[in-house]
Amino acid sequence: MVQSSGRRSLILALLLALLVAGTALLVSAQGEGTEHTGESEKLAQDPGDWPRVSAPGAPVRRLGLQQPDALASPAAAGGSSGDSVPTPVRRLPPTPTPAPLPTPDGTPRREVIPILMYHHVGVPGPGADAIRRDLSVSPEDFEAQLRYLIEHGYEPITLNSLIMHLQLGRALPAKPVVLTFDDGFKDQYSNAYPLLKKYGFVGTFFIITLFADEERPEYMSWSEIEFLHSNGMEIGSHSYTHPSMSGKSYEYIVWQVLGSREAIEARIGEPVRFFSYPSGQYDELTMDVLRSAGYWGAVTVEAGSLQTAEAPFELRRIRVRGRYDVREFDHWFNYWLAHP
Ligand SMILES: [Zn+2]
Repeated sequence: MVQSSGRRSLILALLLALLVAGTALLVSAQGEGTEHTGESEKLAQDPGDWPRVSAPGAPVRRLGLQQPDALASPAAAGGSSGDSVPTPVRRLPPTPTPAPLPTPDGTPRREVIPILMYHHVGVPGPGADAIRRDLSVSPEDFEAQLRYLIEHGYEPITLNSLIMHLQLGRALPAKPVVLTFDDGFKDQYSNAYPLLKKYGFVGTFFIITLFADEERPEYMSWSEIEFLHSNGMEIGSHSYTHPSMSGKSYEYIVWQVLGSREAIEARIGEPVRFFSYPSGQYDELTMDVLRSAGYWGAVTVEAGSLQTAEAPFELRRIRVRGRYDVREFDHWFNYWLAHP
């Protein structure tokens, strides 16, 4: 009896021991879990140790996903909105002609090369205001100026040749000169072009493409622009609508310089490399966009004749005013050669 009751209590004791051991194991296992949480809470309060907090348990990928969004979208970076409003990414669309300006050879060339600036070549009507008269060179004066250049040994070149010279050292005539025509006025086609052809001159014509699209009577049509190009003239962009290009947004500048470039390229079948700033107004962003849009250079209205390899987007020009007879042309032409 005693023996059997003793055996029973031994079994009971064993069962009890097993139970205690099992509970201890269970408690120990739970303890590990809570211990980790406890550490997380402790670290969460420590601002010096953020990365370790999110690393083990938390969604690690959240950081990785947020970063690109924040970079691409200024709105997301500001955290003002949780909505996924698509924000335009500041990147140019791919273009069929990827702008391979041969890598400049690094020589810091600075040379006096006159670039003449013309607008109208024609006689303004009787009601023309002072600005229009100032922008208008008569065909007679224009021809006298071409003859002057020939007599003084000047040889006309394109802006393409000028840039190839500045950046790569390609040879130029001894006395090069560039003739540029802004705005794409119809009288450039009817008056300037025949005289350029007569004397074997090349000219660079800067087109406002909206005005050609709209077939405005005072401006050259696309077929006239194509005609100039197929007869050896250089065609550049003078923007889409002729706005000031200073202080404008990236998207706005892209629209003006890329849209006009593609419109001209679609007609002439050749890359457009040069831009003329409307009213001579531009800023750093304008130059950045032009560069990334595949342009090689741009002409300003800054008076002078010093062209440099470091500043192909700030080429200087000599304005030819409507009142210039050949004597005054001679004076100012040489003035700006002496004060480049
Ligand atoms: Zn203009």
